[in-house]
Amino acid sequence: MTELNEQFQELIRVVPIPYPWDTVAYVERVAEYRGRPITLCPIEPGSLSGTGCGTGSGVWIARQHDDVIMYGADTAWHADHIIAHELGHMLLGHGHDGAEETPDTSDLPLRALMPSLSAEAIMSVLRRRDYSTERERDAETFADMLLVEATLPRRRPSPFRSTFFRARHR
Ligand SMILES: [Zn+2]
Repeated sequence: MTELNEQFQELIRVVPIPYPWDTVAYVERVAEYRGRPITLCPIEPGSLSGTGCGTGSGVWIARQHDDVIMYGADTAWHADHIIAHELGHMLLGHGHDGAEETPDTSDLPLRALMPSLSAEAIMSVLRRRDYSTERERDAETFADMLLVEATLPRRRPSPFRSTFFRARHR
């Protein structure tokens, strides 16, 4: 977990957290850092039938030239957390590597959820089952850390902060 904390500190250095917190602005910074646009696609809570990430509500769809984050949330905080979790997978390098056969999405109504989504361009659809337990936990921890960090007061070197993370994530 210490390693994850180090990765996190490095990531917030190269992709600074907007202050005050702004999900869309942060998503744009991550997109710029990765050199691939990210599209946010809100869907009805429950549309993924619990197969998504975290509490079952998020999915990362990698297309040839961009990435889509689908999230079904009933509150703004939940939406932020799902998005942060998926960004965590991206920033921690949890994507599929290389070419693969067309991903099986027959159990997901992707077209209905996002009519503009062209099936041919989809390279991978990453849900909870596609990740190891460790990666799934790391993405969830990343989301927790990011949203805590985002709400902390800025520009005050905080001994509390480091103590907090050490205590929490050891
Ligand atoms: Zn996940």
